[in-house]
Amino acid sequence: MASSEIEVVSSESQPKTQQIAIIDVFTASAYGDFDKLRKFVEEDGASVTTPDGNGYYALQWAALNNFLDIAQYIIEHGGNVHASDNNKQTALHWAAVRGSIAVADLLLQNGARVEATDVNGFRAVHVAAQYGQTAFLNHIIAKYHADYDVPDNDGRCPLHWAAYKGFTDTIRLLLFRDASQSRQDKEGCTPLHWAVIRGNVEACTILVHAGTKQELLVKDKAGFTPIQIASDKGHRQIALFLSHAARTNSNHLMDKFCSGRVGDVGYAPILFCAIIVEVILFINSVLAAPNLPRITAIVGLWGWIGVSLAIGSLIMFYRCSSKDPGYIKKHGGLDGFEDTEDPLLNIDMNNSSGWTGDWSQLCPTCKIIRPVRSKHCPLCKHCIEQFDHHCPWISNCVGKRNKRDFFFFVCLGTLTSFVGASVAVHRIWTGIPALPADETWVHYVIIHHPGIVAFLFLDAIILLAATTLAIVQASQVARNITTNEFSNSIRYGYLRGPNGQFRNPYNHGCRKNCSDFLIRGYTEDEIAWPPLQRVAT
Ligand SMILES: [Zn+2]
Ligand SMILES: [Zn+2]
Repeated sequence: MASSEIEVVSSESQPKTQQIAIIDVFTASAYGDFDKLRKFVEEDGASVTTPDGNGYYALQWAALNNFLDIAQYIIEHGGNVHASDNNKQTALHWAAVRGSIAVADLLLQNGARVEATDVNGFRAVHVAAQYGQTAFLNHIIAKYHADYDVPDNDGRCPLHWAAYKGFTDTIRLLLFRDASQSRQDKEGCTPLHWAVIRGNVEACTILVHAGTKQELLVKDKAGFTPIQIASDKGHRQIALFLSHAARTNSNHLMDKFCSGRVGDVGYAPILFCAIIVEVILFINSVLAAPNLPRITAIVGLWGWIGVSLAIGSLIMFYRCSSKDPGYIKKHGGLDGFEDTEDPLLNIDMNNSSGWTGDWSQLCPTCKIIRPVRSKHCPLCKHCIEQFDHHCPWISNCVGKRNKRDFFFFVCLGTLTSFVGASVAVHRIWTGIPALPADETWVHYVIIHHPGIVAFLFLDAIILLAATTLAIVQASQVARNITTNEFSNSIRYGYLRGPNGQFRNPYNHGCRKNCSDFLIRGYTEDEIAWPPLQRVAT
């Protein structure tokens, strides 16, 4: 899949004004030397309307490097906005390579055709997708109504190209605008096929989450589905993800169970039953066991504290699994703007609606511009504010509105199972009589107290899981970072400082992070948000 030829040209035109001699109108245009350009034209009588030896025009060079004043000057001196090189590429094609929005505006306002095609059938939208120029692509779609679902000569749309090149922001934008996912090129490949061929996990994830899942079953001309291609090419992670997505979509109960879902119920009923069974075992086989000595007052007190903690855990379990974790309503997305204006039209100039210049804020599934730190959950089918993770054991997402309940739940779980285990061990320790020499301690307990053994076995699993979760959650609360941000920090531009190092702008210091979390349940993001206008710059 060979992309636009401009790739070759642009690599030669890095800004090297110091070393490269400005010898003609083409080099002057390419390197932005306006004074020299005027000298060549006005004193030496050079033409800006004829191409150089390779067939490229001065206007193309100016467009490539976004030199607005030079492009304006060339047009004023007869430069033709429709002029195309040997590949039939116009200045607008070249502007798309580096996302030169200002020059593109100038060209289009001077009559350039946004739908001009080159020899490969590439339009500016294809070139922008090939080079990941998301802001440029959005601009020509929103302002000049460029067709973003148009195929090139090989039947590939901008989404095919963005998927192949792995430009996830561009994929998000195109899906947000409802670009077709099911279109097959001349080789029968959908955008998902191409993302799989290149082995780009994030691109595949976005496409699958926003798709209808039918794309998973589409076969290319050679008869391969994306899952088969992923296996053949050795992209194990993608093959697993796609198979999982196919199972989630399947109607077979066993498939749903294996993929972490039984309908929309998840594993929550299993955990609920396990807690109830634990409480019954504890009361019957530990506190009131007939074959153990009568319980002392102090151990009895601890026992009932354990039962009360278990009831508290159940209440928190109910709260965090039934509560809205922070669903983002379709407010500020396309819905509210449908009849008025495109919400992405002036996105780079409008910072007031929570747009920070991060394209990951677009949800291609919900069609909303969401706040930073949120993420779409394919199981809950919503974008969740301050998304932490989807927990199958509570059958709900953990997010801004239920994270504190979740944290209390795991803390109570840890405490309950610790108290339960301590009381059970104490009961066995003090209740076993002197054993004959041929009887082992473990054997005696298993034979005479199977209820306690079952309780301790289940309790140990819960204690281990709850303690691990409580420690992880506590450390993340102290740093005000979510599980999602912690595991995927590389994906989020807002978690990187100017030098590319990890930086968490939401960390207000351990004390404030913890007090905000414990008192309010979450922290306000706006406080720490530094003005970031990545798109505008
Ligand atoms: Zn969403
Ligand atoms: Zn979820």
